[in-house]
Amino acid sequence: LAGIPTQESEVRSLDRAHVFHSWSAQAKIDPLPIASAQGSYFTDYEGNRYLDFSSQLVNVNIGYQHPRLIAAIQEYVAKLATIQPAFANDARSEAARLITELAGPSFRSVFFTNGGAEANENAIRMARLHTGRPKVLAAYRSYHGATHGVIGLTGDPRRWGTEPFTVPGIVHFWGPYPYRSAFYSQTPEQETERALQHLRDTIMVEGAGTIAAIILEPVVGTNGVLVPPPGYLAGVRQLCDEHGILLIADEVMAGFGRCGEWFAVHHWDVVPDLITFAKGVNSGYVPLGGVIVSDVVASTFDDRVYPGGLTYQGHPLACASAVASIEIFKDEKILENARFLGTDVIGPELEKIADKHPSVGEVRGLGVFWAVELVKDKTTREPLVPYNASGAAATPMNDFAAACKARGMWPMTHFNRTHVVPPCTTTEAEVREGLAILDEALDVADSFCD
Ligand code: PLP
Repeated sequence: LAGIPTQESEVRSLDRAHVFHSWSAQAKIDPLPIASAQGSYFTDYEGNRYLDFSSQLVNVNIGYQHPRLIAAIQEYVAKLATIQPAFANDARSEAARLITELAGPSFRSVFFTNGGAEANENAIRMARLHTGRPKVLAAYRSYHGATHGVIGLTGDPRRWGTEPFTVPGIVHFWGPYPYRSAFYSQTPEQETERALQHLRDTIMVEGAGTIAAIILEPVVGTNGVLVPPPGYLAGVRQLCDEHGILLIADEVMAGFGRCGEWFAVHHWDVVPDLITFAKGVNSGYVPLGGVIVSDVVASTFDDRVYPGGLTYQGHPLACASAVASIEIFKDEKILENARFLGTDVIGPELEKIADKHPSVGEVRGLGVFWAVELVKDKTTREPLVPYNASGAAATPMNDFAAACKARGMWPMTHFNRTHVVPPCTTTEAEVREGLAILDEALDVADSFCD
């Protein structure tokens, strides 16, 4: 690693001088240099070790420095470091076979990308070309990526900064969110029924014949770990079938173990037409994403050219690491661990934490995918910070996050929520350690309650 700086001060000063960071005012940030990582922890240059309750950007599902995953990449790079996508490649072929198989029998092939946004870009292009229709429906309170096309799908305030320069033809609708129902629902059943009626109405007024696809996160991730109430996803599938609309499941965050399944849709037995993935497929050891294409959509492009491609798609190192990662998931029963952590540890412990703290309005989730929603007042449910650009960096949440970090746990906060999203490989003892820190740090949030 000759030429790479070894001192923290140099890493930090070079970063500030030359690295343009995402989602940031460049003069207002001071990113923490990270020296190393292992298992569920990462460590800074001063030797402070953090239990990662964020899995980085909810992507390190297999934990850090998994020895088998590293060995697979090392072995493959020594064999063939790169080959462009027009050639057939053993690692790519096998990764595509495995991923298609995991998705289910109606899927045929994988269009690989380098990440989630590119996957959604291509899913939408496929849907528009397959149906010959222009519009795409996407949910408010969603995140689908930050490239030019899909930032328009994204239904959170991060989209605002790019408007009005988003692509045309995107229409937003409200998905279910029982705790803050847009439909005045009192029960999950009512929420399902009313959210579906709202979607049906949206389709009607937009014109069913103009809509290529509905894209949604089966479990909404960054915008709240919103687990759909019973019957919702099946209802959306039915609406799509009635109107010849494709269903795109964005499983970039929810897939590959996060919800305790290979894909979150499996939890509800719903079969989409296209599934997009990234993150957990190989935990970001090498960038990888893709679109899993159903037989029906794939057949559109049997004799017709698909107009799209990327120099690095299906990169052999990324694909070799995906194959290894899937094997490790199976051998080490990582899905089972994720389910166990959700049902036996995180869920019950968060309920106890909610009872203790006035700032906790609701806890919800499944697998290793949980949100703790913070409020000023449990009765009014007023969020601890507002859902807008200023709320993202507001004092109560920053103070709460600082209290977690000071105790050795790295949280994932977003507006008035903190998410409990450790690697799927985290042990029960580690999860309990992190939850104890969360419990203590919530005293800070409590002090901001009315
Ligand atoms: N879709 C979802 C549901 C995501 O959570 C993300 C990233 O957080 C993306 C898409 C975008 O993925 P990427 O950042 O790899 O482009």
